[in-house]
Amino acid sequence: MTAGGRARVRLADTGPTVFTEMSELAVRHGAINLGQGFPDTPGPASVVESAVAALRAGHHQYPPVPGLFELRAAIAAHQRTWYGIDLDPETEVVVTTGASEALAAALLALTGPGDEVVVLEPYYDAYAACVELAGATLVPVRLTPPAFGLDAAALRAAVTPRTKALLLNTPHNPTGTVLTPDCLRQIAETARAHDLLVIADEVYEHLVYEGPPHQPIATLPGMAQRTLTVGSAGKTFSFTGWKVGWATGPQDLVEAVTAVKQYLSFSSGTPFQHAVADALRLPAAHVTAQRDSLRRRRDLLVAGLTEAGMAVHVPRGTYFVTADIRPLGETDGLAFCRSLPARCGVAAIPNQGFYADPDAGRPYVRFTFCKGQAVLDEAVARLAALRDGRPASTLRTGEIS
Ligand code: PMP
Ligand code: GLN
Repeated sequence: MTAGGRARVRLADTGPTVFTEMSELAVRHGAINLGQGFPDTPGPASVVESAVAALRAGHHQYPPVPGLFELRAAIAAHQRTWYGIDLDPETEVVVTTGASEALAAALLALTGPGDEVVVLEPYYDAYAACVELAGATLVPVRLTPPAFGLDAAALRAAVTPRTKALLLNTPHNPTGTVLTPDCLRQIAETARAHDLLVIADEVYEHLVYEGPPHQPIATLPGMAQRTLTVGSAGKTFSFTGWKVGWATGPQDLVEAVTAVKQYLSFSSGTPFQHAVADALRLPAAHVTAQRDSLRRRRDLLVAGLTEAGMAVHVPRGTYFVTADIRPLGETDGLAFCRSLPARCGVAAIPNQGFYADPDAGRPYVRFTFCKGQAVLDEAVARLAALRDGRPASTLRTGEIS
């Protein structure tokens, strides 16, 4: 894509995202795609039937801008049941086209030129793009390897008089870090002391495998009134292509998001909203079963990557694992990921695009384990070739994708 002339785009990086690039490479080489995070099996069959039923019932026209009331009520009930958060579905919940739109609308609505937005680095690529579109300034605070924990003092030190918002992500993509209760407490203290907004991207809220469960920062003292919490049915129910997400929080913040959202998408797919309302009403056992199954698959992939010779940090949350490729004698994650599909029939994501300074992320590569066990077994078998140093010509590709 071009950044100049009549097609000038208001973004420094205008090419396809790294997710698109690596997914295309996976298809071209018939590789197993452990790059872009999308499950290879859909969510509950009953929820698919709900979507079909909504289509057959004739729900084909625009829903209300902030979302169907039925879905907003189900989102509010979810927040109450899981976290004890009370929300008025009329005024404190907005449905968006994926969490992506919630984040974009929040940043466009709430930040602008002269404002600084503190993010955890590595950061999901959309954060940097949307902060740039808003004309604000991204201020990254690094999660330090090898465990990728957050030093709350470093976050405090990043705050200046221009800081408008903390954009948090826990459980964290791409590292799998789940912020500890003590860390959250310190972040909340900083937010209160400096009167900051918090945009809390909690799309992986149900994917925490051990230790304390996910705790929304909005539940901490004095935080509900300054926090906009973002969720996604794509992640929670394995329907990433449906693009149903939401933002919840105090009325003024939700109204600001809605004001921008109405000029981005206006409203989001009606039949899927009906279905996601049903999904949110499913028993909690669905969510916990998915988590337990993903924990087993995490362990399988972590063992496989370690066996293949990478240094792996075991993620406590999300469906991603970040591996250090230096023990393989590799130094550049982007070059490694560009060659991996051809070399051994597996695709992954280089983390360096999630850093303001790509050098800091160069040795790290992200793999997803949201795939079936047979697919992961095959991926691990293929990755073993990296350790053995077998030539690419002896490797099989194209059998599973
Ligand atoms: N935030 C994070 C951290 C994500 O990983 C994703 C998934 N790509 C999103 C937001 C966007 O979610 P959605 O697919 O619902 O737009
Ligand atoms: N959130 C998913 C990931 O991190 C998908 C990202 C995308 O394709 N934009 O893999």
